[in-house]
Amino acid sequence: MTDTTRREVLGWLAGLGAAAVLAPGRASAAVAVDVTSVTALRGVTLVDSARVVPNATIVLADNKVLAVGSRDLPLPRGSTVLDLPGKFVIPGLWDMHVHGAYLDRITLSLCLVNGVTGIREMWGFPPIYELRARIERGEVFGPRLVVGSTIIDGPHSTLPGAQIVATPDEGRQAVRDAKTQGADFVKVYSYLDRPTLTAIADECARQDITFAGHCSNHVALGDASSLGQRTFEHMYGLPLATSTRETELRQAIADLPLDPANSFAWFKQVLEFERAAALSHSRSKAVRVANVLRRNGSALCPTMVAMRVYASPADRYANDPRLRYMPAFYRDFWRDNLNNWAPVTPQEIRQQAEFFRRRMDQVAEMHSHGVEVLLGTDAGNPYVFSGFSVHDELELLVEAGLSPKAALQAGTRNGTLQPGADANLVVLDGNPVKDICNTQRIHAVLTRGRVLGPAERQQMLADVEKAAQEPFPPAVRTCC
Ligand SMILES: [Zn+2]
Repeated sequence: MTDTTRREVLGWLAGLGAAAVLAPGRASAAVAVDVTSVTALRGVTLVDSARVVPNATIVLADNKVLAVGSRDLPLPRGSTVLDLPGKFVIPGLWDMHVHGAYLDRITLSLCLVNGVTGIREMWGFPPIYELRARIERGEVFGPRLVVGSTIIDGPHSTLPGAQIVATPDEGRQAVRDAKTQGADFVKVYSYLDRPTLTAIADECARQDITFAGHCSNHVALGDASSLGQRTFEHMYGLPLATSTRETELRQAIADLPLDPANSFAWFKQVLEFERAAALSHSRSKAVRVANVLRRNGSALCPTMVAMRVYASPADRYANDPRLRYMPAFYRDFWRDNLNNWAPVTPQEIRQQAEFFRRRMDQVAEMHSHGVEVLLGTDAGNPYVFSGFSVHDELELLVEAGLSPKAALQAGTRNGTLQPGADANLVVLDGNPVKDICNTQRIHAVLTRGRVLGPAERQQMLADVEKAAQEPFPPAVRTCC
């Protein structure tokens, strides 16, 4: 053990009220502490963002990783030992773009069953802040929640229910309100003009809160990044920023009238301009944009699994067997919503497929230039399922051109299972670095001191299916 590690571990032990430190042997750190339960996973291959350790033993104390060592690591007395030869262990997955946490009996369970132990909820409101607190107090079993503010847009919005801010001062007030209510970050949207977004950025810095969301159609991606926008969702703004026709297309967007009674048409037309931009891609501009994002520490959250649905004929995913986990009002919303968006004619279908392919190329391109890519699904949007779709997105990231290891890093927020880390783990039947589809072969999920084995996970799914058939209050919010 290095001095630094020892210091860190001792500090961590002091925080836990530790009783003793065992001989470390070949372990990264081995300790015995005053905890209620110690569980050891023995004989597994650990695969995290930092390393691959075959034939390892991972020791967990309640909600923390206590030690990682070789198979013969001495264990604290009274440990529960799970012998898992041939299994692979990854850190818990994160879905960085989710809607619908308020459907707690459905969303939370579907996440946990699928090994998703953390989610970023992209449209927050007070009941979800309360849910976040109840989960942390242990009153509700669920993944860790990071919750955004309500969606801030204006002076118009294409999104019904968004909070409208008409001036920079109103933008500042919205940031202060978000902070007071308990948002973890501020969510910005598509229509904000430059002065208002600038004011929001400045107020976020004053209030020590980050902002994230859509790239405004009125502010270039690189400029929004330089204002401090932490993440950019759905690749919006990237095709424009990397197009040889950027100036002309930006002018066309600026000249596009928005009829507040039909904001949908505006949004759809802007997407057409984005598609035109994707067809006039400049690799040298892409390098420049990537450099700006990387320098500013801005990340992309492409949500390709949602983009794929919108780029496909409306009926392509309409018979997904996972629909049985969704309440009827959600299924209806999905069907109706998609009918507004999905391509219909053979030409539209070809065009959208091409646009999707080019967006996939841009994900890989940005990643290859060192831009951080986050795994997000936009769950809550048509045929994008809490938990399940995280695995679809992992596959799409690999299909786009990321290595399975890079996709896993995106999916775990660069998670590692070193001593002191939260004990959120997924036990797999196959090696995810060999084949990313192996993240779907889940044997068990460990989180919050619980082991969800095959029987528990099956029971949770059955409970979700039952809950989905019960009447729900009318949807407050579904997607965006
Ligand atoms: Zn969203």
